[in-house]
Amino acid sequence: MKHNFGAGPCILPALVLEQAALAVKDFNGCGLSILEISHRSPEFEAVIKECRMLVRTLLDVPDDYQVLFLQVGASTQFSMLAMNFLTKRKKAAYLDSGYFAKKAIKEALLFGEVDIVASSKDQDYDYIPTGYQIPGDAAYFHCTSNNTIEGTEMFSFPETKVPVICDMSSDIFSRKIDIHDFDLVYAGAQKNMGPAGMTLVIVKDSLLKMVEHQLPSMSDYRTFRDHDSMFNTPPVFSIYVAMLNLRWLSEKGGVEAIERENIEKAGQLYAEIDRNTNFYGLADPEHRSRMNVTFKMYDPAKEQEFFNFATSRGIVGIKGYRSVGGFRASLYNALPLSSVQALVSCMKDFTDKEVFKVFETETHTEQAI
Ligand SMILES: *Cc1c(COP(=O)(O)O)cnc(C)c1O
Repeated sequence: MKHNFGAGPCILPALVLEQAALAVKDFNGCGLSILEISHRSPEFEAVIKECRMLVRTLLDVPDDYQVLFLQVGASTQFSMLAMNFLTKRKKAAYLDSGYFAKKAIKEALLFGEVDIVASSKDQDYDYIPTGYQIPGDAAYFHCTSNNTIEGTEMFSFPETKVPVICDMSSDIFSRKIDIHDFDLVYAGAQKNMGPAGMTLVIVKDSLLKMVEHQLPSMSDYRTFRDHDSMFNTPPVFSIYVAMLNLRWLSEKGGVEAIERENIEKAGQLYAEIDRNTNFYGLADPEHRSRMNVTFKMYDPAKEQEFFNFATSRGIVGIKGYRSVGGFRASLYNALPLSSVQALVSCMKDFTDKEVFKVFETETHTEQAI
């Protein structure tokens, strides 16, 4: 058995994988695979409807928000949202909290001015900036709720009259949020919602009303609203598996129940990082992400040895992002507490083994004398 700490595509519950595998062979006994049924069939209509309904219930989405399913990943949202809401307006405000925030800024600059209200670049993005002002004339304010690469997470969001847009790719459905705090939320599905291929967008009607200019159909949120996310062929399989995953979450007790588990999982891992003399955490303790735990070893020369030791115990996906190095353990919803405990034991045993080695050499020296 593997313990999958991969940052994305993420681990999915075993039950979901089994159900998805069955549907690939024969979807609901209809004699066709989920991969070959028409997206206009009543069978798939029921799937997309249930998926939408699960998103609404799990996140308590108010009636004046649309739930849309798009393709091409969260990265396309970086430009699409600017195309919709920044074009023809002067500027937008951005919080520069990490790698993906920076990418969002780069794309927005193609469509207007960007006012970076605060940045944590000065400390390699190891914290979430606070105490900034959002200019009242900004078209919107953009932030990233969880910085997947650096391992920091926002636990409060600014109060402002400006529309708030949030990239929640890596922590959506991991904790309770109040959708009222946002005007648009987007997330690539493959971190905490399902397999790659689908992007969730939750958008407030009043924000969509701001769009008055013409846009390419596939880059216009109104197209997806007007056609119930079925303007063209939607990512049928991704939506189906996301629906199964959200059903699983719902049966587990929903976002509140999973948030308690996620707090426990992250708590146990951070406790070991803080206790163990070989390791240290990268993120400011106040802004530590519950989804992506980043850490390094005081002696970088030991990292390969620890990595091999962990691999021998079935632990996979803990290498840190290229530009950061060290380790990153992603604790998405489907990762069980027992996997976190396996990683914690691995860190303990690695360090104890070293102590034992030193002890052994010392005893041998004594015997030699
Ligand atoms: C992974 C990730 C993205 C990019 O998602 P894609 O679907 O691969 O484009 C964007 N933002 C955040 C916060 C992410 O974690």
